[in-house]
Amino acid sequence: MSIILDAKLAPEGEKKIQWAMRNMPLLRGIEEDFKSSKPFDGLKIALSIHFEAKTACLCRVLAAGGAQVHASGSNPLSTQDDIAAAADASGIDVYAIHGVNSTEYYEHLRKVLHFGPDIIIDDGGDLVNLMHNEFTELIPGVLGGCEETTTGIIRLNSMAADGALKFPMIAVNNAMCKHLFDNRYGTGQSVWDGINRTTNLIVAGKYVVVAGYGWCSRGIAMRAKGQGAKVIITEIDPVKALEAMMDGYEVMPMPEAAKLGDIFVSATGCCSVITGEHIMLMKDGAVLSNAGHFNVEVDMAWLEDNCASKYDARPNITGYVLTNGRTVFVLGEGRLVNLAAGDGHPVEIMDMSFAIQALSARYIVENRGKLSPGVYSVPDELDREVAIRKLRSCGISIDSLTDEQDKYLNSWNL
Ligand code: NAD
Ligand code: SAH
Repeated sequence: MSIILDAKLAPEGEKKIQWAMRNMPLLRGIEEDFKSSKPFDGLKIALSIHFEAKTACLCRVLAAGGAQVHASGSNPLSTQDDIAAAADASGIDVYAIHGVNSTEYYEHLRKVLHFGPDIIIDDGGDLVNLMHNEFTELIPGVLGGCEETTTGIIRLNSMAADGALKFPMIAVNNAMCKHLFDNRYGTGQSVWDGINRTTNLIVAGKYVVVAGYGWCSRGIAMRAKGQGAKVIITEIDPVKALEAMMDGYEVMPMPEAAKLGDIFVSATGCCSVITGEHIMLMKDGAVLSNAGHFNVEVDMAWLEDNCASKYDARPNITGYVLTNGRTVFVLGEGRLVNLAAGDGHPVEIMDMSFAIQALSARYIVENRGKLSPGVYSVPDELDREVAIRKLRSCGISIDSLTDEQDKYLNSWNL
């Protein structure tokens, strides 16, 4: 039933999955728990997450808990075909091929939904959106779902505000053990992994312009600084702009930053952050990339329509020759540079994020019938459980409050 590129790629993909799993102690522990408790026995899970090694590990953990997992990617350029083949060979029903066009990508999402999922695991909101627009007859069967990322939760909140959301969704991204680590340190490392390996250019001494100063951008800026870049931040939120200034970065509007930047990284979740107007101000050789949402942050349509010519400069680098004679270089077609031109976040980071996913999925089953449609936070005790498991896996123990301290902290009249 699956749709994958080539089943013969499975052995290569299996090695990568094994490497990831040996570095994912939290998921391994949860897998053991799930094997005995079988929380998803008889249930169908539809999943759309970047289909690379760590995601395959999550699929297997859910399957170990008794789920029938139907999986697709969440971005056509982040799917790795050898991983899709290996996951398929191990019984996951996979619909994902690297580099498919937008029509095929959405067809793959439809495939995983038409089985009638009990649980939806989404990344960016595409599955939930399709479910509400095209599979309304299957909505009554959905117990709930989990959303992986910031932009997906923004979409869910606006659906809930309009009364359009028809089942409960857990905001996985908002758990402390997700965004504090994944968005900041995960994106911070993997974005530079993607840019460095793709361009093979030096970062030290260059102007790096980071659009946004949210969780992802903080990590991207911090690691740019660590490589010796002169970092400029653009923002629309005055508090975040001030925070960036106090953290030691230059802050200015994009039209000014456009003239200075050597490397641009946008991570806002917003559209048209780098427009044609900005691009025409850029230096010859400027490198443009996106680490935020889909392919909407850099105005790719403007580049396609207005460039004098374009060419493949290197794998994952497109050179756009502008009408002013300068050339700018776009990485990974303006899609998430860390996933389109790299392997995404480090394994240990996804171990934490996917531990929250797996435990949130179990929470939905444990609370079936009790959660009305809406957006729910990950329960604090679950967030703490992931922190405790992570510390334990690192061999780190911490202090506990004594009775005297507990009493002191909880008294107002000493
Ligand atoms: P966030 O809300 O913490 O930060 C976003 C920041 O962008 C905010 O400070 C906001 O004020 C600013 N912003 C919004 N529009 C802007 C504009 N036009 N110009 C300049 N700044 C603007 O969100 P986050 O958690 O950092 O996530 C950012 C995006 O990255 C989201 O789309 C999220 O889904 C995605 N994300 C990507 C990865 C990845 O692997 N690449 C990982 C996690 C999240
Ligand atoms: N699907 C959308 C939404 C952003 S994806 C898009 O492609 O634009 C951002 C999410 O990808 C993050 O929340 C992060 O948890 C996840 N991610 C990052 N690295 C990953 C990896 N190696 N494997 C799976 N998911 C990853």
